[in-house]
Amino acid sequence: MKKFFEEFKKFALRGNVIDLAVGVIIGGAFTAIVNGVSNDFIKPLLAWIMGAKPEEILIGEAQWSWGLAASDFVSTIINFVITALVLFLIIKFFNKVSGIGKKPAAPAAPTTKKCPYCLSEIPIEATKCAHCTSELK
Ligand SMILES: [Zn+2]
Repeated sequence: MKKFFEEFKKFALRGNVIDLAVGVIIGGAFTAIVNGVSNDFIKPLLAWIMGAKPEEILIGEAQWSWGLAASDFVSTIINFVITALVLFLIIKFFNKVSGIGKKPAAPAAPTTKKCPYCLSEIPIEATKCAHCTSELK
């Protein structure tokens, strides 16, 4: 059982799995926004154009109104923001966990330097500049 969890941890902490999960969740949340625009504004408008009576145009069980449509839409947006925020915190946590025990790569030792006369990049061992032929100490 312990090995199972080890494997699962390895699997879940791989970057592409997390990226995929983020894509699916954000995609779902964004779909909710699109559905919200459609249900709150486009469908009622179409129903009105097609000649439905105002009392027949509903959001859920209630009769459509600007206030109801707007509050419905704003709550959809807030849901999206909360989803994204929670997701961000989870990713931050995962990044922290997966970063534990990893040493940051040491920066590579410099192999070039700048010539003090012409400011060209030259090999660090050079005693004469290849660009301006100045003698270097
Ligand atoms: Zn030079």
